[in-house]
This record gives sequence, C-alpha cells and structure tokens, in this order.
Amino acid sequence: MRLIDAHCHFDFPEFDQRRRAILEEARTMGLSHLVIPGVRRADWGRVTRVASEYEGLYYCLGIHPWFVQEHSEEDLRALEQSFELRAERCVGLGECGLDRIRGNLTEQSPWFEAQIDIAAKYRVPLVVHSVRTHDEVVEVLKRKQFSGRVLIHGFSGSYQQAAKLVDLGCFLGVGGVATHSHASKTREALRKVPVDSLILETDAPDMSPSGVEPGHNSPVYLRQILASLADVRDADLEDLGRSLLCNVQRFYGWDEIGPSER
Ligand SMILES: [Zn+2]
Repeated sequence: MRLIDAHCHFDFPEFDQRRRAILEEARTMGLSHLVIPGVRRADWGRVTRVASEYEGLYYCLGIHPWFVQEHSEEDLRALEQSFELRAERCVGLGECGLDRIRGNLTEQSPWFEAQIDIAAKYRVPLVVHSVRTHDEVVEVLKRKQFSGRVLIHGFSGSYQQAAKLVDLGCFLGVGGVATHSHASKTREALRKVPVDSLILETDAPDMSPSGVEPGHNSPVYLRQILASLADVRDADLEDLGRSLLCNVQRFYGWDEIGPSER
C-alpha cells in the first residue's frame, strides 16, 4: 500500500539526528511522498532545503497564524514571489489560517486573507490551520469566492462543522486525533463525511497518535492513523488507503502533473 503524508513538519530540529532513519522506516511501511508545510519566513529556507535533500519530499510556503507578529508586508511580497517563480517541489501555500486558542483573530485575519489572495492569484492549493474557527474560515472562503483547493489540516470538530467545510469543497486532514477514542465528536465527523473529502497526514512531530509520546510523532505512524480511520468508518484498509491516496493526489494537483514515481 502506498501512503502520502500530506502535512508533516519534517524540517523541525526534532528530526535532525534521525531524519534519514525515520524516512527509511516510513518507506518500508509504504510512504512514497511527504509534504512539509512552511510556518514562518525564517524557516522557509530550511523547509526548501530539507524537501530538496530527499526523494519524494515536497513543500508548501506560508505564514502560520501563531507567527504573524514577526512578519511584515515585505514577507507577503516574498511569498508571492516564490509562487511567481515556483520551484518544482513547491506544491502549495500554507500553512496559514486562524487560531482562537493561541493569538488574536483580529490580528491573524488580514494575514490569512492576504494568503488566500496569493493562492487564488497563482492557482495553488491552500493548506489551512483552523482551531475553533471553522465558521470564520467558511465565511472568508465564501466571501472571497475562493475556487481553488483547500485542505483544513488536522481537522478537529463536529460533523456539522465538517459538513459545512466539505460542502464548500474543502478536504479535511485526518491526523492523530482519529486514533484517540476520547475524540468522539471528531471521530463521528470523520465517520460520516464522504470518503473523497479525507486526506491523511501526521502533522509530526505534534499531534501524536494514541500510544505515542507527545512530540514523538513521525511519518512512521501514518499507517496507524489510516488503520484507526478504517476502524472508525468500518472500511476496508486497502480500499480506504487507495481512496485517500487519490484524494491527496487530487489536492496537490499530482493527478495532473504526477510527481515522478520512484
Ligand atoms: Zn502543521
């Protein structure tokens, strides 16, 4: 079975001593591609470098809501420029978005909106971080009539919230939360939404699946997340794996351009 980790912070220093070993182990479990999101301009160089160092690694660039304060207009121009001269391995804009728990929504909003505009202008998929802000995300995507592809990464929320996002055409990122039996509300949502709206991710090193120490998450656990999702949906593991692979390829536009197979 082939797996793609749609969102993994593989550039983080937590992986420095064991990046190659983790990748090799994950590959034995079926991992073929992994996408590293960008969270702040200061890290974009590292994201690009790590993604370029290994086969099958791709990346996104963006400004995460937690880090908006350290950025300026000039950084948005730089972001825009990187999509103008888009490198082959740069496959999307993100992660950007809103977070009600950490930071201030009034401060985060203009950054999110500016990045939606850039994604629209350059027709690149948008990777969204949304924590207790699903209604706001739906509102802004509608208001801007954003017609590109959107991934609400690490989805957590109710079926009602999931349905609104899916109705709008968004994909929902399924991570470690699917493995936690106490996350019943989110699991209920992941059970009921159409299978073609789901995308697999680890968000490693964070969002540890059940049984994995906090901060020790890695792409090695992608298969465990898939297995939990298959359980939750009462679906066949292989079938579900194939569907989710198609979804992530559709999201990053790989069904059109095809990342070179190796
Ligand atoms: Zn993330």
